[in-house]
Amino acid sequence: MKTIKDVNFKGKRVLVRVDFNVPFDKQGNISDDTRIQEALPTINKLTGDGASVILMAHLGRPKKGGFEAEFSLKPVAEYLSKLLNQEVVFTQSLLGEEVKSLCQNLKEGQVMLLENIRFYPEETKGDKDFAKQLADLGDAYVNDAFGAAHREHASTATIAQYFPENKYFGLLMQNEVENLNRLMNNHEKPFTAVIGGSKISSKIGILESLLNIADNLVIGGGMRYTFYKALGHTVGNSLCEDDKIDTANSLMKKAQEKGVKLYLPEDSIVADDFSEKANTQYIPSMDIPEGWEGMDIGEKSVKTYTDVVLNSKTILWNGPMGVFEMKRFADGTNAIAKAVAEATQKGAFSAIGGGDSVSAIKESGYADKVSYISTGGGAMLEFLEGKTLPGIKAIED
Ligand code: ADP
Ligand code: MG
Repeated sequence: MKTIKDVNFKGKRVLVRVDFNVPFDKQGNISDDTRIQEALPTINKLTGDGASVILMAHLGRPKKGGFEAEFSLKPVAEYLSKLLNQEVVFTQSLLGEEVKSLCQNLKEGQVMLLENIRFYPEETKGDKDFAKQLADLGDAYVNDAFGAAHREHASTATIAQYFPENKYFGLLMQNEVENLNRLMNNHEKPFTAVIGGSKISSKIGILESLLNIADNLVIGGGMRYTFYKALGHTVGNSLCEDDKIDTANSLMKKAQEKGVKLYLPEDSIVADDFSEKANTQYIPSMDIPEGWEGMDIGEKSVKTYTDVVLNSKTILWNGPMGVFEMKRFADGTNAIAKAVAEATQKGAFSAIGGGDSVSAIKESGYADKVSYISTGGGAMLEFLEGKTLPGIKAIED
């Protein structure tokens, strides 16, 4: 793997694609700076070498094809200046003479952030000319944006071809790829995958892929009700994708053929409304009464799932067990977080990924007790589905 780790970049101008797609609160402050924090090791390594660093990033999904104040990266540049304790050079434009000369005049150790790269529609089209113009700004290219690695965009993939000898994985990207490779290709057994979340339709790819590697497939979240229905149970008002009942059946059949143990929750906490204030009851079976909807797994499932997780050597977790955003329905999710942390303590390798799953493990207080948390939601899922990610391929080619 070609990473920046073993190279000295002194005196070089290094173009780095980072993932600064951070959320903002109503006051316009960055509400979660994880992605910026995660990029610091790469930035610090390069500036420490004596390189100047030109950062490329996107924010949100601008549609107009030009500057839009709400998607400006200016607040991120200001925030980064504070974190790095030095002024980050920021420009409103990406291309043109002004930017070129700013780049050329950067001193060793200086950092510059280009404005939201998606203000140019050429970015998402993977446009070659646009990528070439960006490439002209630097001597080397580093991709550290794992969260965008499943996109074949100008700054994440196309640009790499203009650096045949000088393209590298950043430290965050390297960490992601190494951990995910370990998970997929070089893991200790038993391997347990805990998959939850809302919809079976968004997880078919990963479920299919996991049937080839996991020993245990533990299902939770809203997607379980499609399995229940496939087994002939009633689901009440629970989330259920009727057009995926065949998929559920086929997944269960394949699991049996491949000797993968597939677990479905034996019990549910149900509510008479999708709300924090709803009436609730415990259902000790897979039959959900009419007028009620499943919101969390129950205590029997928690017990079974905890045992499975504690007896595993490798654990992948994607997708909460219940509607964890509502405190009353977060118990199942928190119990799994605790079990994964305990298994890790006992020596298991544990990986967590997915936007909501990462928030859930953070809220549970166990985030620092697992082996690895992926920064990429969609990118991680695609990697685990066995797909080739354009951002990774572009560096490896
Ligand atoms: P991730 O982002 O980690 O990949 P998903 O996006 O697949 O996870 O799923 C997360 C969502 O699933 C959460 O918003 C959660 O409320 C929802 N969810 C979990 N259990 C249920 C359920 N029983 N009914 C409806 N939604 C659920
Ligand atoms: Mg999600």
